[in-house]
Parts: sequence; structure tokens; C-alpha cells
Amino acid sequence: MTRNGVFPTVGNAESIAREEYGLHCQAEPLPGEVDRNFLLITDGGDRWVLKISRPGADELALGCQIEALRFLETSPVAHLVQRVLPTRDGRGLIPIEAGEEGRCWVRVLSYLDGVPLAHFSDRPVRLLEEIGRALARLDLALRGFDHPRAHRDLVWDIERTHELARFAEHIAEPARREMVERHLDRFREQVLPRLTGLERGFIYNDANDHNLLVRSRADGEPELAGLIDFGDSLHTIIVAELAIVCAYLMLDREDPLAEASRAVAGYHSVRPLTADERSLILDLVVARLCASVFLAAQRRQVEPDNEYLQISTRPVWRLLERMTMIDPDEATRTFEDACAHSPTPSRSADEIVAVRRRHLGFNLSVSYSEPLKIVRGQGQYLFDDQGRRYLDLVNNVCHVGHCHPHVGAAAQRQMAVLNTNTRYLHDNLAEYALRLTGTFPDPLDVCFLVNSGTEANDLALRLARAHTGSKEIIVLDHAYHGHSPSLIEISPYKCEGPGGEGLAPHAHKVPMPDAYRGPHRGPDTGDAYAGEVRMAIAEVEGTGRKLGAFLAESLISCGGQVIPPPGFLSAASDAVRAAGGVSIADEVQVGFGRVGTHLWAFESQGVVPDIVTLGKPIGNGHPMAAVITTKEIATSFVTGMEYFNTFGGNPVSCAVGLAVLDVIEHEGLQQHALEVGNRMQAGLRELHERHPLIGDVRGLGLFIGVELVRDRETLEPADTEASRVIDEMKARGFLLSTDGPFHNVLKIKPPMVIQAHDVEEMLEALDEVLSALE
Ligand code: PMP
Repeated sequence: MTRNGVFPTVGNAESIAREEYGLHCQAEPLPGEVDRNFLLITDGGDRWVLKISRPGADELALGCQIEALRFLETSPVAHLVQRVLPTRDGRGLIPIEAGEEGRCWVRVLSYLDGVPLAHFSDRPVRLLEEIGRALARLDLALRGFDHPRAHRDLVWDIERTHELARFAEHIAEPARREMVERHLDRFREQVLPRLTGLERGFIYNDANDHNLLVRSRADGEPELAGLIDFGDSLHTIIVAELAIVCAYLMLDREDPLAEASRAVAGYHSVRPLTADERSLILDLVVARLCASVFLAAQRRQVEPDNEYLQISTRPVWRLLERMTMIDPDEATRTFEDACAHSPTPSRSADEIVAVRRRHLGFNLSVSYSEPLKIVRGQGQYLFDDQGRRYLDLVNNVCHVGHCHPHVGAAAQRQMAVLNTNTRYLHDNLAEYALRLTGTFPDPLDVCFLVNSGTEANDLALRLARAHTGSKEIIVLDHAYHGHSPSLIEISPYKCEGPGGEGLAPHAHKVPMPDAYRGPHRGPDTGDAYAGEVRMAIAEVEGTGRKLGAFLAESLISCGGQVIPPPGFLSAASDAVRAAGGVSIADEVQVGFGRVGTHLWAFESQGVVPDIVTLGKPIGNGHPMAAVITTKEIATSFVTGMEYFNTFGGNPVSCAVGLAVLDVIEHEGLQQHALEVGNRMQAGLRELHERHPLIGDVRGLGLFIGVELVRDRETLEPADTEASRVIDEMKARGFLLSTDGPFHNVLKIKPPMVIQAHDVEEMLEALDEVLSALE
């Protein structure tokens, strides 16, 4: 190979290191199963590993490994994996010609100091748990990583275990061959069909006892130093990561299940396992052991004199034989038990309630009579500490799906590089300002970046006051706009409820434009409700004052998921402008494509407000918000006083905001909201025909309300029934909540990635629950 066509020598390694990587070093050969490896010790004492692949190695697969390691460089597990040293010109992988045999590929990785776990026979429980935790952290850190080669066919992919049957002929002893064939039959018939519902992702896939490196701490206790060899990493079921390490931890141990259960407990404490995942661990351990003996047998055909192969498979055979005596249900119980007693500070729901009662502001609330302890979210689902999965139908903050990998990765990456404030120039801020304002119609093209919906509305009030010179404001009954004093006193939902001090003198309330239950009923009542706004303006002007602003949500959330009747917002805005006021659209809940037909809900109402406030979904859960306005209004705000906001518009938040916009666009979520939302609404209208409890179904896209009434004539609110529905739906794995002045409206505003099958399942469950109630 290499430059002179012979097997690479120490001299080759040193010259590659010098010429390509600028490392002046001495090289020493290191053992390696596939690659030819050299330890490089630089003149400064740094240590690196130079790896030269065999000729003709799969360039894309090697590139995938390099990219995965680079992806982890800014992650919480960066210290546990090797770092990629780029060449002088920034490449992670470089080719060298190996004559007729094709090309070899070279990469240089940092040297991790440690001894393979296989050499440590004394393994304290703490170390086993630490290994479990580290692998779970690795799996979480790898979320969102993808690469074309991550989806390759690999014999080590646990999902392909049954395909190993083709190697059975290489196992000479009939009894052993029969045993592993039995294992494969079980895998094909009983395990494979259960893998489809499991969470999938890119995993390391090779936590064997030679790849896990351990070192001694100052007190002599062993600790995990890191893990090496990403050669088998790929996209598959994530729980395979854990099953693989368990397989190797169980080899030649007195009580193999006990050893594995410590790693399971550690893993579960970081990435909680679902009940399905836990019940499959033992079968997946067997699958990995089968792969190990099959592939060793196959290699023995190629290398009959390799005695090491025979020796190294002995403990695997011994464990496989023992496995036939372990009852899978008993193993599942052991793992369940280990998870229930998982080691990190994981408190019971009762304990957490007690801590909250004592140490957190006393007026926080929790949902449900039996509160949920949610430990993990993915897409449209939430998982509790028991591994139960819930379809999330209410959390509109995690707009593009809980923990979307693209958003998480953007935050993680920028957080590891820089986070400052708007007093420095930063590309992210410029990019985000352009992207965000670019989604608004003229003349809305100036934005302010803040941290919460409250801050956005508070700033909107300041802008309106600066522009009009007036504090007088019209709001809708039952509206909520934020928790600061300036907003509490104009939010009837709060200031007219328990503990409230009533509306501020400058706030004027008009009825919510509720065409189902309000003072004006029917679809053609838009102008009648706008008439209420005109009357409020006249009231303000009657006292000799001038109107400042009209603040309303484009669609009404807290008020009970109300869609204003056509024409309301445009007629109200016209009247407000004619009186010299500005219209503020609160899109904190309803923006970013939820309505399906448009990105912004005000567009669906045929108006262009003067100020728009955004929040909740804008950062998919990262605390950020924004105000968008016109040049004219922004100019009125230039009073000589600086506007500074410590966190607003910081590089991390802007990276997150950009990532959210990317996902909405790339995944076509607005159109998806329209299609799935329409199907959901059609299904709910079918239920309306059959269930007298449903008084009204209304919505736009994935912003939907279902109003429950005891009598369709009197509209008596069915509030206790609504809470029963919520509890019963929760018991069936669906999270909903109620809203509206009478707490009788089921509010539906799920993450936008909810799928058609989720909708069908939800409709079926709601049908059952309503039938049981009626
Ligand atoms: N406006 C509306 C319509 C809201 O629903 C909320 C929060 N529920 C807010 C403003 C305040 O947002 P935040 O809680 O982020 O301050």
C-alpha cells in the first residue's frame, strides 16, 4: 500500500502526519482488527491515533463515522469519544493510493487513555451504571445526526439478525447449530414483529468490552474513560445500543442478569426506556450473541488458522447456552425492577409535589388530579416515568415536535460556540431578522427579539403608546396577554378572575366575538361584534381621550378556541385606525402555520395589523419571542432611550429560531396542519352528529375547539363532563385540556407533526369516552 506500494510502516505514518496534518511526531504501531493503526506522539507530548483503512474500504461509511464524531464534538459526551483532527486543508478523511488494491483512507483521531473493560474483572455496580448512563447520553447526543451511509445494510444491524441464518452451515457442531437456529426462529417470529414501533435513530452500535475504555480515578476506583470504534455505527432501533453492552457485560459473570440490570438502570435514568424496549432487551442480547458466533464462524472459514477467533467466542457460546435457561419474563421483571430503582436523583411524583409545595412559588398549578411526571418527548409524543406514551394534543409550544433533532442540534452547536447579546454583530441575528420579517406582508418589516409572550406584548404596548401618545386600549373579554403588571391589568381572564383587581381604567373590554355562545350568534355576526368595538371607541372619545390600541388574538385561545366570525377583525381594525389607534395582533398561540392556510393567523382573517406579537412556538420550547411592526411605528419608538434586552436576539436563540423556520419549511408543516387538521375536524363533526354532549366543533387547521354542553338549546356548559373526558382520555394515552370561561371547551392544538393515524386513534378513543359518559 501507500506511497511506495508496501504495507504502511512507521515511517509512512510519520510522513503522512507531518505532511498532511502538520504533526511532528514519532509513530508506534498499535493493534487493530480492520485498520492499520499508529500511535502518534508529537514533540509537544500530544497523542493521536493515525488510522489507515484496508484498501478499497467504503469511503462513504468512513465519512459517516467522521461526521458522527464531528457532530459529537460540541455535545455533552464530547469527552467520551475521539475527536477528529482535520488535515491542514480541513479534511477529516484523505485517500492514499494502494496500487492495484485501490485506495486506503487515512484519518487521525485523538487518543483516549484507558484500558479495555474486558481486562477489568472487578466491575463495581457504580461503573456498570455509569456505562449505562454514558450510552444513553450518547444516544441522546446523536439524535438528529443523519448521513446517507447511516442506512446501510450491515450484518451487525440487530434488526437483521434473522438474515444470519445463511451462515449456519459454518457452525460445525450440530447441537450448537441447532441452538442458534432456534434462537433465530424465535427472533424472526416473536421479536422482529415487535421492533417496528420502537424509537429509531443513529447509534454507536458497538459497546463491546474491548471498545469501552476504563481508567482508574485518583481514589483507585475504575471509571469510564471513553468509547472507541464507530465502525459499526448506523441507524437502527435505539435500544440496540443498550442490548449490545448488556451482551458483553454478561459474558462469564456469575449472575449475568444482575450485571446487565445495572447498565439498564443507568441507561434508563438518562433516556427512559419504554415498556416495550425493556421487554425486548433479553431477546436483543441473544440476537447480538448470535451475530457474534455466526460472524466468527464465517470468518473462521476465511481464516481457519486464526485461533484467537475460536478462543474469543468461547464465553459467547457459554452465555448463549445459559440464556436458554433464563425465562424472558423473569428477565423483563429484573429489568423493570432495575428501572424502577434507577440511580440518578429521580424522585417519585409525590416527592416532587412535596418539593414544589415547599420551595416553589405557591401558586404554580399542575395538570390532572394525578399529576404526570413526563421524562421524555419525541415528535407528537410524551413519555412518563413509567415508560407510558401519550399523544400530546395540547402543547403548541413544541410546534415542530418535541425535541426536534434539527432544533436541538442547532441550539447545542451554537451554545458550545458563543452566546452574547445584540451589542455585538452576529450573523445569526441578521439572518433571523431577514428570515422572520420576510414572512410578513408589507409594511411589517421591523422586528424586536425578546424572551416571552409577555415581554412581546409588553413591548407592543410601549410601541403603541409611543406612536399614538395614548394608553387607552380595547381588549376582548376573557383575553389573556401576559403576566406582567401592564398586561394583567388589561387581561380580563386574570384581572377579573380570582385574586384579580379588575380592569385598569385605561382598558376597555368588548365581548369576545363568539358566534356560538356570545351576545351575537350565527356566522354573519362579524360586523355586529365590530359594532361593539366602535361603541368602545365612542366611549373612550366621549371622555375626551383618544384611542391608543386594540389588542386581540387573531383567533381566541384562552377564551375557548374561538374563531371570530368573518369580517370581524377587518371591520374592527378599520374603526381603530380611523380613530387614530393601532391594531395589535397577539399571535403568541396561533402563529407559525398552525391555521394551515397561512403562516400567520391574521392572514386567514384578511387583515394586516400594525403590530404582531409572537411567542410559544417560535423557539419550539426555547424561551424566545418577537414583536414585528412597521418602520413608522418603530421610528416613533426612537425616543433617545436605548432599547436593550439582555437575552433577546442572542446567537443561540436566533439559531433556534432559524432551525424552527427551517423545519416548518422543509417538512411542509403548514400544509400538513391543513390536511391533518381538516381530517380531525371532519372526524369531530361526525362525533358531533352522534354525541349530544358535543355542542360545537370549530377550528382552523390544527387550532381546534370542541365545546361540550348539557343541552344544545340552553347551551348549559358541560364542565364536569369536560374534566371527565380529559381524565378518561389521559388514561387512554391522550393528553387534552379544557379552556373557555366555563372550562367546557376541549382545546386541541397539538405539535404540528401529529400524523393521520394519531388522529384516527384519538377520534376512536374520544368516541368511546363520550359513549361511556352519555
Ligand atoms: N398571549 C397569549 C395569547 C398567551 O396565550 C400567552 C401565554 N399563555 C401569552 C401571551 C404570554 O406568553 P408567555 O407565557 O410566554 O409570557
